[in-house]
Amino acid sequence: MIGKIGLEEHFAIPETLQDSAGFVPGDYWKELSKRLLDMQDYRLREMDANGMEMMVLSLNAPAVQAIPSPHKANEIAMRANDFLAEQVAKRPTRFQAFAALPLQDADLATRELERCVKQLGFKGALVNGFSQVGTPENCVYYDAPQFAGFWDSVEKLDVPFYLHPRNPIAAWAQIYDGHPWLMGPTWAFGQETAVHALRLMACGLFDKHPKLQIVLGHMGEGLPYSMWRIDNRNAWVETPKSYPAKKTFGEYFQNNFYITTSGNFRTQTLIDAMLEIGADRILFSTDWPFENVDHAAKWFDSASISEADRLKIGRTNAAKLFKLDL
Ligand code: MN
Repeated sequence: MIGKIGLEEHFAIPETLQDSAGFVPGDYWKELSKRLLDMQDYRLREMDANGMEMMVLSLNAPAVQAIPSPHKANEIAMRANDFLAEQVAKRPTRFQAFAALPLQDADLATRELERCVKQLGFKGALVNGFSQVGTPENCVYYDAPQFAGFWDSVEKLDVPFYLHPRNPIAAWAQIYDGHPWLMGPTWAFGQETAVHALRLMACGLFDKHPKLQIVLGHMGEGLPYSMWRIDNRNAWVETPKSYPAKKTFGEYFQNNFYITTSGNFRTQTLIDAMLEIGADRILFSTDWPFENVDHAAKWFDSASISEADRLKIGRTNAAKLFKLDL
């Protein structure tokens, strides 16, 4: 189909480029780094060739989240956001933007999100999982109480928050010891991000902020397949609830989450997601430049779903959620 919109589409600035090295074998780094630094050339040709009208762009990972100094994290986030704003201004009908945020400090992150949305016209934020604060070993997840004011502001600004993966730090990754192939997109990304999403659901965030919308990539990081079990394990046993949230996980998933197809181009998986979260909450994405636009587009354009659903997932759901001026 023509007119597709993608929501997990990355770029790098020189200061964050090296964060993406190591995700491909050395022979491919030249190509990947070229793709990450390109904005208005190669990227557009790929979009044009594959019926992609727009990318809502975001910084690569882990980038800002892996800078323990809040001051430095804020500086890099602002630099990336300013660069992105300039790039979007050149072709606003083809590119829109997600803010990178220094969540090492909730107040700095709130201020930067407000600047990006109100002054730069960004459509939301994309954050690469937990943030390292002060020392590389100190990891914070966003269900922590210090983020209450930040979430207030995300809801008030009425913009989605994309929770993007990163690898766990070595000290928390014992289960992967001796099996480095499990890191990254193979497995660790999904596990890390799915648990973070469940923490957000359990902490009561969406009782307090029912309008908040979180976006997850990679067809929901495995959650659609597990959602029933999370709410229904040992259903014959009456167990007192051990977390603050009032509703079931399934209810939060269906009311406060969207998922994208980034890096997960599989019809069987898409159909499971459609049955769990519904076609209204699924959004086309590629995960450029880590995945190819043509791989995503060729799969999606011919996937065995209704044309009505293809149009929603490929374009109109995103247009509505991000209030895109098309
Ligand atoms: Mn990605």
